[in-house]
Amino acid sequence: MKIPFKFTFELVPGRTSRGKPVDSILTFAKKAASDRKLAALSITDNAGGNPALAPQALGYEIKSLGIKPVIHFSCKDKNRNLIESELFELARAGLDNLLVVTGDYPRSGYHGTAKPVFDLDSVHVLSIISDMNNGFLLDHNAPGGEIKLASSKFQAGCVVSPFKRTEPEQVWQYEKLKSKLRAGAGFIISQMGFDIRRFHELRLLVDLITRQSNTKPPELIGTVFLPTRKLARLILEGDVPGCTIPQRLYEKIDTEASSDDKGLMARLERGARLAAILAGIGYDGVHLSGPRLEYEHVAWLIKRTCELVPVWKSFIQEFLWTEEWPFYYFQEDQETGLASCNISERIKHPATGMPERVWFSLNQLIHDMCFEKTGALYEPMQKLSEKVIHSHSEHFYTQAEHVIKKIMYGCMACGDCTLSLMAYICPQSQCAKGLLNGPCGGSCNGWCEVWPTQKKCLYVRAYERDPAIATKTHEMLPPRDWALYLTSSWLNFYLGKSH
Ligand code: SF4
Repeated sequence: MKIPFKFTFELVPGRTSRGKPVDSILTFAKKAASDRKLAALSITDNAGGNPALAPQALGYEIKSLGIKPVIHFSCKDKNRNLIESELFELARAGLDNLLVVTGDYPRSGYHGTAKPVFDLDSVHVLSIISDMNNGFLLDHNAPGGEIKLASSKFQAGCVVSPFKRTEPEQVWQYEKLKSKLRAGAGFIISQMGFDIRRFHELRLLVDLITRQSNTKPPELIGTVFLPTRKLARLILEGDVPGCTIPQRLYEKIDTEASSDDKGLMARLERGARLAAILAGIGYDGVHLSGPRLEYEHVAWLIKRTCELVPVWKSFIQEFLWTEEWPFYYFQEDQETGLASCNISERIKHPATGMPERVWFSLNQLIHDMCFEKTGALYEPMQKLSEKVIHSHSEHFYTQAEHVIKKIMYGCMACGDCTLSLMAYICPQSQCAKGLLNGPCGGSCNGWCEVWPTQKKCLYVRAYERDPAIATKTHEMLPPRDWALYLTSSWLNFYLGKSH
């Protein structure tokens, strides 16, 4: 059992640069810095997809108080050039600890909802950070090209959710975690959740990945979330992307909220018990989060956790909600009720109907004929491409491709087609965030975060067509190259211009 255990706390800046919201964050940080019970304070980046004070602004101040800030770094509001520029800014300021996330889809903004950017995904950002740490070489086309940049010292981490209800969502979460670790994530913070068997599954999976890849184990931090009744209700109703709460737990919180302290002590005690179990099952630390908490509450919870760690096993039953989960990644350990090391059986056949299966097989057949080197049409298509490029017919050829693919897949003419890697579903038009290397954490019961109950997550649909697609360990797909926009992906493929 790992004691002392590491604690961090999440700060959520509001939509202002001064006043009470900022003052109370800094008061919290001052107390935490002098008490030294918290290892770090993390600062969210436009949480919930709403504009807010940038995390680095508070990061500078918190660092100067003598406590480590962890900056949430999301992909939603910035393109790759701003991402690089902000990374230079953070490196310059010594704000080296970053939690890289995809980010929530924008929900509000000045005079309407903001444009979602998502130029890079979280795997790309982790990769650019690793390159910067190694002092990356500018390519020869860039101004000042072919020089090696000074290396940075970032420590970047990532998030994963072990709390997905359906098999496709959970398998994808874990496969994407592998990509994030390969791209350089050095620590993992779990999504918020309450079920200890699910937390235990993540612990076992990280151990398994580490053993199989023979790499240094990443630090694993479990989020202990302390919601108020109001927030618990919002989560239950599906209004907080990627977050779930068991119905029975919500009912408990609802009852507790009628007490004189509005359920405060009950939620602190529950948090301490959950944190104690996480220490017991081998987590390296706990990330505390929740609204309306003063530093004194957090200090009490930390002290209480230390008292409870020796008896952590006695609380396991309180944190099992088996009725919530139709699928577990690992089979149950009958003795403890936690997870065992045996992986659960997956669905044997794609959960799709006949028309979907026929459509998928047909696409595969055509793809293999045209785009695999051994395919019957590969060579003729390649020769045709060489004739068409820079000829009068190039425009017609490009338009014909776009019309055909628009009708069949909702093609957005990115010029670098990834259909064959996504079970023939276009990520540019069918994923709200255009993600190329696995799903975000926002899906709920298989539905997309952005269109719940209307549109399934692209990655769930792809998994249902072909479950093997999630577990194929392919290299990171590079970000979309905007120089190829509105060009022919077929020409780009045969002439070696695309990925
Ligand atoms: S389609 Fe899936 S990965 Fe894309 S935004 Fe929706 S939930 Fe996220």
